[in-house]
Amino acid sequence: MSGEELEKLREELKSVSVEVVRLLARRADLARRVGELKKQLGIEIVQSSAERELRQAMIEKARANNLSETLVNKIATLMFNESVKVQEHRKGRQITHFDIFRRAKELERQGKRVIRLEVGEPDLGAPQQVAEAAIQAIREGYARYSDAKGLPQLRKKISEYLETRFGAEVNPENIVVSPGGRFAVYLAMKSVASLGDEIIIIDPSWPMYSQCAEFIGARPVRVKTRLEDAWTPRPEEVEEKITPATRAIVLNYPNNPTGRVISREAFQKLVDVAREHGIYVISDEVYADYSFNGEHVSILQQERDVKYVLISSFSKSWGMTGYRMGFAVSDGEVVARMAQVMSLIITCVPEFVQLAGMKALELTDEARRYAEIMRRRMETAVRELEKLPASYHKPEGGMYVFPRFNIEGLDTTEFAMSLLESKNVGLAPGTAFGDYSQYVRISLGASEEDIAEGIRRVKEYLEERGLT
Ligand code: PMP
Repeated sequence: MSGEELEKLREELKSVSVEVVRLLARRADLARRVGELKKQLGIEIVQSSAERELRQAMIEKARANNLSETLVNKIATLMFNESVKVQEHRKGRQITHFDIFRRAKELERQGKRVIRLEVGEPDLGAPQQVAEAAIQAIREGYARYSDAKGLPQLRKKISEYLETRFGAEVNPENIVVSPGGRFAVYLAMKSVASLGDEIIIIDPSWPMYSQCAEFIGARPVRVKTRLEDAWTPRPEEVEEKITPATRAIVLNYPNNPTGRVISREAFQKLVDVAREHGIYVISDEVYADYSFNGEHVSILQQERDVKYVLISSFSKSWGMTGYRMGFAVSDGEVVARMAQVMSLIITCVPEFVQLAGMKALELTDEARRYAEIMRRRMETAVRELEKLPASYHKPEGGMYVFPRFNIEGLDTTEFAMSLLESKNVGLAPGTAFGDYSQYVRISLGASEEDIAEGIRRVKEYLEERGLT
């Protein structure tokens, strides 16, 4: 008898599941029709207010039926993603930042001298003492597995460093050493969000954030900032994007690509929004040492009790890009999850790299010297940019300038490729960082001479085409 009942229930379950698929198909069809109308009316595909209303209706239904709200939230996000997909009228393949990078390399292989202002890597290299420390560590046999979170002596040293640098008390147990800041961003996102969750990203932004959010199955929700606002996010626009599916907001100051360091008050306001909604602040501070006016505020210096993950790196402060050294700081729960990912995926950062990192932490004068080099380069870039039909925010930090060309109809993606071909100067098109097709990112990872020469060539290029 009970066997028969089981069969019956299974049949019913099957027919309900199949019905869900039928409903999904109907939903996709409706979304497509909505998309056509949006196109006719010239309105944007993502309409936060419409999504909000729909999500709310779904949550209420979930409540009325005693169904998990978390589950329904995730399903809502997946549905919205699907709607965007069917509504997107894909243009042909566009030139990307990566195409510029690849072509620049190719030209170099052909023997051309290319001024590489498209790359996000400082040319400074690690201090000699760091290299020595790594070699010595290898000689001494520091090439074994270590604690997934990093060597205890390194974590202790990082904690002392953070205390001196930011006056913040950080328990070494709350630190996870990672292979670079990039992996630390992945660890953070993977640990605070999952499939169907949302992560708020402030544009223009380092492309890795939205790519990584999508990679872990979350949905990147973009908030645009404007040159006219000196790239300062408006807290009310951030708040508007928060839904019950939001898990985190990424802040990145000093900023890549704008070089903006927002004020303590502006930072505080964003942190307050996150705190009020109980979401994480993922504060990517890899450029903290490239701060020219001393205004940089760390998430560790917040007076309020906010959930956060701090992302830090040795790549910029000490030019240690190829060492792959970074770290994250967070609460016990998130740290445990990050350590689990470390242990599962890569075991640990190589011991000798960690010991090289310990050496770097002692070399604060080197970090200051590198920052001074960046500041001088920024001044050079800005001086040369003054001669162009361009507007920009003068960076307070970081290693980039993000000007807008005041030229009607200029698409900097095509412009960047054409400039590379004709003048052998590489620039990153603004579209790599969000909806900024009039902008380019100029990297300060090259010498002052190259930066000046590169921007002069841009001027030449524009003059030859009658665009100045
Ligand atoms: N965050 C930002 C904003 C960056 O620009 C970069 C490097 N381009 C990183 C993190 C990561 O650097 P790394 O992995 O070398 O530490």
